[in-house]
Amino acid sequence: MDRGFLFGDGVYEVFPVYNGLILGLESHLKRLQDGLDAIDIVNPYNKKKWISIINDLISYHQESSNQAIYLQVSRGCDDDRKHTHGKLKPTVYMQSTPFQSSTKGDLLKGSAAITRDDIRWSQCNIKATSLLANIMYAQEAKKHDVEEVILIRDGIVTECSSSNLFLVTNNCIFTHPKGPYILPGITREVVINCAKYCDIEVKEVTFNKDSLMDADEVWISSSTREIVPITCIDDKPINNGKVGEIWSLIYDRYQAIKSINV
Ligand code: PMP
Repeated sequence: MDRGFLFGDGVYEVFPVYNGLILGLESHLKRLQDGLDAIDIVNPYNKKKWISIINDLISYHQESSNQAIYLQVSRGCDDDRKHTHGKLKPTVYMQSTPFQSSTKGDLLKGSAAITRDDIRWSQCNIKATSLLANIMYAQEAKKHDVEEVILIRDGIVTECSSSNLFLVTNNCIFTHPKGPYILPGITREVVINCAKYCDIEVKEVTFNKDSLMDADEVWISSSTREIVPITCIDDKPINNGKVGEIWSLIYDRYQAIKSINV
């Protein structure tokens, strides 16, 4: 009778762990709190307790150097299946999965994506466990043998089915602003900080599909995929199919942050 199972009534997080250390711990816990607040679930644990149980889980899996910690908080079990709810005890579920980041050599080969209409609701900033549209897109990407599905809402490129999107034009990085139409990715934030560190301008503004197709570089970002250059969209090459130099700079800085884990 868990409402997570019956309705997808919950929120989740994915924490990337490198050599036992979580990258972006505070930001992930903050986004978890924001999601819980948005759907009116009382956070079952304080920050100290979360850190302690996440670290316990990490320590059980020391054989894997990189782990993705999946954590879900659902509203909990009710005694009846009804849309409305009273005050319930949230259910916490966690798992650790080993993951391997792609090498720079692999990423330099480039990846493909397709575009689709963004049919999701307009509270995409909540990292909700109800992911029907996202899994339909992921399945389509699999069918077309591409890395991602890039989403377009009313002519504006928002993000992807499970990652944020960046483009580079004239040495400036563009990404959709935070708000109801994208998930505020933690990797997105790290990428923006990497760009600042490298003295590269970032504009958090909207752009359309023409700008995407004419861009010098397109990349996607997520906690487990890190930063992946997209060199082909809807069967058309981006920048003649070449991976860009700004991606390379940001990628290198990201790898440096990972190893020092700041
Ligand atoms: N957008 C969507 C829709 C996602 O599902 C994800 C990853 N779960 C992201 C962006 C990237 O978020 P993060 O960098 O926090 O992994």
